[in-house]
Amino acid sequence: MIRTENLEVSYSSGTRALHPCSLRFEDGAFTVLLGASGAGKSTLLRALNGLVTPTGGRVVVEGIGDLTTRRALQSHRRRTGMVFQQHQLIGRSSVLQNVLTGRLGFHSGLRTLLPPARAEKTRALEAIERVGLLDFALRRADQLSGGQQQRVGISRAIVQQPALILADEPVASLDPATADRVLSLLHGICKSDGITAIVSLHQLDFARRYSDRIVGLAQGAVVFDGPAARLGKTEVSRIYGTKPAEATDHFEPLPLKTGTYA
Ligand code: ADP
Repeated sequence: MIRTENLEVSYSSGTRALHPCSLRFEDGAFTVLLGASGAGKSTLLRALNGLVTPTGGRVVVEGIGDLTTRRALQSHRRRTGMVFQQHQLIGRSSVLQNVLTGRLGFHSGLRTLLPPARAEKTRALEAIERVGLLDFALRRADQLSGGQQQRVGISRAIVQQPALILADEPVASLDPATADRVLSLLHGICKSDGITAIVSLHQLDFARRYSDRIVGLAQGAVVFDGPAARLGKTEVSRIYGTKPAEATDHFEPLPLKTGTYA
């Protein structure tokens, strides 16, 4: 379990990106942070991993404590996988090498300079197999499609055997059908492994489809917190800043899934 207590973030530019918020994320739950661009989703996610320092309040992780010490942060990051919008892969390195970077936090500085041990490679190949890319393990990452690259990103996160995955707009740069397949894959892995997931999205239909819980943000404030079933027109308009009459709770169905993977 990870929770925030009156967590607040203001950037040095003066932007108050996150108003004090207290949220509790239970183990194994798949939470979607929903909000328009600039709502504060990324700031909240980064604060949950110490990549942004709170200007107020705190983040507490069960079994680790307050994320204020270097030691606490290190233990928390080791069990937290990050998935980013732009994958952040090393393009000229192979899929396998990219996934192996997910294991770096487990080794001392000197060990990271040596070739990876066989057990580490096996672990990485297993993670690659889970996202359906075993045949591409030795391929350069930049030769893969956007959807495949994001599956490598997921593989790099799960090779850490994380308790928590934080995903920042993981499908924002993918077409709807590919995005659906990538989210379905991420959701399936988190559920089968009992991984707590906090995933920011700006697409309402995906949030509805995959979340156990939706936290809606608008201008740095939490304006909705509940299951998708409770998200009606009024709540949607509060999140997106539209008038209720303009908000819609009906969305076109996404294209049917074709093939196995993106
Ligand atoms: P979202 O992920 O929902 O798009 P962000 O958390 O990225 O929202 O941004 C929230 C607000 O904070 C926005 O107004 C954005 O311009 C601002 N912001 C984000 N990162 C920084 C930063 N590093 N420095 C200054 N302002 C920032």
